[in-house]
Amino acid sequence: RVKERGKAHYQFYRTEMNAAVSQILSLETHLRKALARDEFILYYQPQVDLQTGNINSFEALIRWNSKDLGMVSPGDFIPLAEDTGLIVPIGNWVIDTACKQIKEWSKFGNNGVKIAINISPKQFLQPKLVETIKEAIKKYKINPSLLQIEITEGAMQDTKETSPILKSLKELGITISIDDFGTGYSSLNYIKQFPIDVLKIDQSFVRDVMNSDKDAAITTTIIHLGNSLGFEVVAEGIEEKEQVNFLKAANCQKGQGFLFSRPIPAQDVERLIFNNKVRLVLE
Ligand code: C2E
Ligand code: MG
Ligand code: MG
Ligand code: MG
Repeated sequence: RVKERGKAHYQFYRTEMNAAVSQILSLETHLRKALARDEFILYYQPQVDLQTGNINSFEALIRWNSKDLGMVSPGDFIPLAEDTGLIVPIGNWVIDTACKQIKEWSKFGNNGVKIAINISPKQFLQPKLVETIKEAIKKYKINPSLLQIEITEGAMQDTKETSPILKSLKELGITISIDDFGTGYSSLNYIKQFPIDVLKIDQSFVRDVMNSDKDAAITTTIIHLGNSLGFEVVAEGIEEKEQVNFLKAANCQKGQGFLFSRPIPAQDVERLIFNNKVRLVLE
């Protein structure tokens, strides 16, 4: 009986496994075709200066509108893109599209609008990243200081490779932001040795800043750390006015979150700017 049950269990397990595997395979098949089918789009979320309410930068967040699967969130396909290596062509598309957008938005004000793009660990460590970014900056003739890259602590684990890549990126004139700060292998050592410009406090700390003493303490400490080292500090995931007040009082420069705006398509950003719904103030 035990043997039978074991077998049944095994079969159940195998069926489940097969379903999971074929689901991933089908997602991968679709993902492989997505670039050629032009199914990706970048959305933009404003980064608000918490002290003045001004906006001069946006984070670009990829969206996949699959003709066969509908909207697939980046949380579901970026990890798969990383595992399959598809992150490289997809990431190159993001770099090109964001630089084109920077070019287009240089019509606003004298100095243009800054865009931050996300670079995942595999993409960060692939040998042609620096060259690709350099080419895109040249192609669209943009001011490199308008491009920012966001990398997570996961990309920084191999310090032997990380340091020269970051140095070359800085030499291009772009800025570097540490995303989801505090959730990875945070090390004061890399903060000390790498040329970092921005710390982004992870939204898991910001979420409970009003009802958890620990999250409040961690958030305040990250802000102080960033301020004393001369980094800009950006808080992610702001959904309530009280969080803004807390962050402002703690001297956090910038914030991002649904309270201000969800990520929106480029045309909607322009509409907001033209209707003066967004206080776009350029440095
Ligand atoms: P992330 O870079 O940490 O981006 C922040 C995520 O939080 C975004 O989710 C954003 O829509 C969401 N968010 C913003 N404000 C709020 C808020 O107030 N409340 C809540 N609950 N969420 C908020 P999204 O767009 O689904 O992206 C998820 C992750 O996927 C990103 O995390 C990033 O790691 C990755 N990702 C997105 N776009 C790209 C891309 O172009 N390339 C790469 N490599 N990764 C990307
Ligand atoms: Mg990000
Ligand atoms: Mg983040
Ligand atoms: Mg994240």
